[in-house]
Amino acid sequence: MYVKKCRKGHEYYIEVTLINILKMKKVLLFLSIALLVSCSDCKEDGQAGRLEVRNVIFMIGDGMGPAQVYAGLTHNGGHLTLEEFPFVGLVKTYSANRYITDSAAGGTALATGNKTNNGMIGVTPDTVAVTSSLMEAHKAGMTTGIVVTSPVTHATPASFYAHQPSREMYEDIALDLEKSGIDVFIGGGRAHFEKRSDSVDVSTRMREAGYNIVYNEEELAAVQDGKVGALLADIDMPRASERGDYLPSAVRKAISLLDGGGKGFFLMVEGSQIDYRCHGNEAVPMAEEMIDFDRAVKAALDFAKEDGHTLVVVTADHETGGVTLTDGSYETGEIECHFSTGDHTGTFVPMFAFGPGAEQFTGIVDNTSFKDKFVELLGISVE
Ligand code: MG
Ligand code: ZN
Repeated sequence: MYVKKCRKGHEYYIEVTLINILKMKKVLLFLSIALLVSCSDCKEDGQAGRLEVRNVIFMIGDGMGPAQVYAGLTHNGGHLTLEEFPFVGLVKTYSANRYITDSAAGGTALATGNKTNNGMIGVTPDTVAVTSSLMEAHKAGMTTGIVVTSPVTHATPASFYAHQPSREMYEDIALDLEKSGIDVFIGGGRAHFEKRSDSVDVSTRMREAGYNIVYNEEELAAVQDGKVGALLADIDMPRASERGDYLPSAVRKAISLLDGGGKGFFLMVEGSQIDYRCHGNEAVPMAEEMIDFDRAVKAALDFAKEDGHTLVVVTADHETGGVTLTDGSYETGEIECHFSTGDHTGTFVPMFAFGPGAEQFTGIVDNTSFKDKFVELLGISVE
């Protein structure tokens, strides 16, 4: 608009630039005001470290190596929500005493930042209890939750609240959950609360302590607030093809129950059964578990995009099955899959991050690196 044709086009160009600079100053002024407004908003809680990250959603695909992700992507027609994550890295998975980790040592490393021996939950190799990022968040007054497709007492979720020398001690792990103060837990494992060798009815005790303990998805949907334990199966939830929208809707429910407390929330979510299908060398069911987990990731990501103060990090504890794709089709979703073992393997697992602080989750990192980053980004003090 300001360009006039003349033999000294250069001078006119400068004039136009000056006009643009004047216009830009207004924009800059507006931006500065906007920044001031948002800063004074965030200063309400008086903690500079909490300006950005208010909530953390930490999502673990058990047994989810790179090929599991690619199998899910292929079976889903060539795309996954995970592709929307701007920051990606790789995670080393060995445990304190084994090159190949199990889910107890892997979960303990991801949760507490400590390597331990295979089979151990929330303790060092010499059985000293170590605190998870989730429990640090709880101690700082944040609300906390766990959503899984395994028993809530299974190794991966247990690593976030329990301290036991053996992952098999499900009944003791249930007592650790009772003590933990976690606000929302959703998954299987009812038997470990109610059909116990010591005849204690942990569910009744938790009701007396103020928890709403429910047994099916309808009852869970009806709960609007407060502390909630949803024990939806005796042991495991059904497999992906038989459990409908359970995992993504449980993630949405947990977020709605945890959000709005004023101090933020820490939610741990596990796609527990990717690992199970890989142990069983079941190719398509493995891909279905992967796609189901990705739908849960979408539920978290939708909230994070809207909220703007939520960090979502997705990773795995180890690879299971030694999966290799030798053929596939985005058009038909078919996968040709080979398993080299029925057990866990030693390889990198992927890491994806979205939201404030996500840029810290890149490169090749150790599975012990997550706790410190979460704690620092949340600005919570750890003694
Ligand atoms: Mg697990
Ligand atoms: Zn496994």
